[in-house]
Amino acid sequence: MELTTKAGSVIHRLPAGGSPELFQPIQYLKGVGPKRGELFDKLGVRTVKDALYYFPYRYEDRGNIRKIARVSFGSYETVAGTVIRAENITTPRRRMKLFALTVKDETGSVTGIWFNQPYMSRVFREGGKVILYGLVKQDPYKRYRPVMENPEYELVEEGDETTHTGRVVPIYKATAGLTCRQIRSVMKGVADEFSPKLQDFLPEEMLKKYKVPALSIAVREAHFPEMETDISLLNARGTRAQKRLIFDEFLLLELGIMSMKKGCAKTPGRALRGNGGLRKRLRQALPFRLTQAQEKAVHEISRDMERPSRMNRLLQGDVGCGKTVVALLAALQAAEAGVQTALMAPTEILAEQHYLNVMKYLAPLGVKVALLTGAVKKKDRERALRELSEGMAQIAVGTHSLIQEEVVFRDLGLVIVDEQHRFGVVQRAKLSGKAGGSGDNPPSSPDVLVMTATPIPRTLALTVYGDLDISVIDSLPPGRPPVRTKLFDNSGRAEVYRLLRSELQRGALAYVVYPLVEESEKSDLKAAKEGAEKLAEIFGEYPVGLLHGRMKPEEKESVMDNFRAGEIRLLVSTTVIEVGLDVPEAAVMVVEHAERFGLSQLHQLRGRVGRGGRQSYCILMADRLADNSRERLQAMLKSSSGFEIAEEDLRLRGPGEFFGTKQSGLPEITYGDIIRDYKIIEAARAEASVIIEKDPELKSDLGRALSLELKEKWKDRLELGKIS
Ligand code: ADP
Ligand code: MG
Repeated sequence: MELTTKAGSVIHRLPAGGSPELFQPIQYLKGVGPKRGELFDKLGVRTVKDALYYFPYRYEDRGNIRKIARVSFGSYETVAGTVIRAENITTPRRRMKLFALTVKDETGSVTGIWFNQPYMSRVFREGGKVILYGLVKQDPYKRYRPVMENPEYELVEEGDETTHTGRVVPIYKATAGLTCRQIRSVMKGVADEFSPKLQDFLPEEMLKKYKVPALSIAVREAHFPEMETDISLLNARGTRAQKRLIFDEFLLLELGIMSMKKGCAKTPGRALRGNGGLRKRLRQALPFRLTQAQEKAVHEISRDMERPSRMNRLLQGDVGCGKTVVALLAALQAAEAGVQTALMAPTEILAEQHYLNVMKYLAPLGVKVALLTGAVKKKDRERALRELSEGMAQIAVGTHSLIQEEVVFRDLGLVIVDEQHRFGVVQRAKLSGKAGGSGDNPPSSPDVLVMTATPIPRTLALTVYGDLDISVIDSLPPGRPPVRTKLFDNSGRAEVYRLLRSELQRGALAYVVYPLVEESEKSDLKAAKEGAEKLAEIFGEYPVGLLHGRMKPEEKESVMDNFRAGEIRLLVSTTVIEVGLDVPEAAVMVVEHAERFGLSQLHQLRGRVGRGGRQSYCILMADRLADNSRERLQAMLKSSSGFEIAEEDLRLRGPGEFFGTKQSGLPEITYGDIIRDYKIIEAARAEASVIIEKDPELKSDLGRALSLELKEKWKDRLELGKIS
């Protein structure tokens, strides 16, 4: 791939580690001091190097100096001239105190006005040269005379390089007590003095290949671009200097991920072979045959488990494709091999459902399963803990509580995490750190299988889940008519109820979901409660149940049990049912205020129906749509593929929100953009894999330089990665 830019320049190389001056606290710099130092700290800037990497979020073109007679009212303009008057005045009518600065060039004059800043009069002297930048307005007292309120200003000497005006200037995110202008002043000093001291960790061949500048130049340019740089290119982060920095960011990300993966591959695991007996019996007991796609995933997982190295695999597949049974087969392979499995779900309801499923199929095979959720009573919990630590139970099913300290396994060999988009790298690491190892069993790392129904484009998956191998289930079980999705507003409510009634008459179960309102959990509960009451009135003969997040775990369980058994026919709920629930008789999903849900969430909700052979319906209720919610709901009507939906969601929401970087456990991408810069990502990944291939320990000159950068960027995460 080509970073379409000019050839980079050659720089002087510094010793490994870079100059120590770069790591000095910024407060010791001239014009900073302890007080401002603290404010910089708030922005995440502690050292000089942090400052060099504190990039502007946009740029303004203040380089285009206008003749004063030519300025237009209502636009931002830059003018340059001589001070002819500088005085503090009080306005005649409204008695406002202001400082007025009148500047003249050969075509006319303009007045800059600052309110309540009398000290400004000390900044300027008559006859001095200045540049002003700001919004031009009409003087309220003397029409047609231009004024600028609070303009950016700069005193200039002949031949001076300006910082705040007269050029393309960087705009930094500021904070209370520290203005953008103050930051810019500090940055100018930092960029001039210290950017040459950055050590370039990329070899010159690579700079030439991608036609990007050396690090010191790239960093300087990102703060104070050359005069002729195109402002729109700059604001789109498309200059060669910016591309260099984006490339760096992704190269380090990919390298980190790859070395994490390498670390995993090296971690000794165990060959979990098994004789196939339990798996065969499960297959005989299943009321269906596995699809080809499921078989392929089963095969990949089984092969991984048989190998002596650790498995670290992601199972991707759309809602309803049948991931659970694949997981069960893996758990049985582990049981055959004599080790325990932990199956972790993001919610209690889901853990409970897994438990029921596992029990249904595995209890007849003589496999013992322990449930650990918040709903489990103290005595049962203690028994479960004992069964796990003593090895009587082969499978533990639970929520996050499985990673609590007190849970000890006798010999944990396999960890399965369902709906992985809710678990981060770090959590995974914690769980698999719970290797067993009492008695004859030496400690070792369990195999890890994570499952998700939020499929993402392959290039992104390689980055976001880069530490994992990937299996995909790309088709649904046969005989499932696609869910019909319909959009209604309130005027269509009668029709919706007609459809609901006729489906109930045919024996179907139905969900009605209300959104979670962030500000007040109470009000969404109120809406759901009222909804349930109203529906109970309308559908008198069909029992209505209510499920919400504030119910006690055992209450939730009993509602779900009743729904599964058909004793509740219409289940009204807040979003607690979003992921994973599997009730094949459910055929109608009504989503109230659908506009308040994210796309992936809506797709998850829709995935609750259409799981048996019934024609199912997903009904989106929405009123007064804003444009972006209309787009979202249209996407739901257009597509039933989780893959397409996820891509659209990613496009609409942007990667930050979509992935929740914090959750993913990866270092935050601050400069690049996972979507916009996908070409750069691909190049960075290719380079990273060549580097790791040639120099797996990162011991060469290049390797050492990169490894220092990696440590700074990833901090202790790389260590964690080794046990994930
Ligand atoms: P998900 O991948 O969303 O977790 P589940 O594992 O809950 O999906 O499976 C959805 C439903 O499909 C379940 O009721 C399950 O029993 C059923 N199922 C799974 N595999 C098959 C298959 N090969 N043929 C028919 N039904 C299947
Ligand atoms: Mg599932």
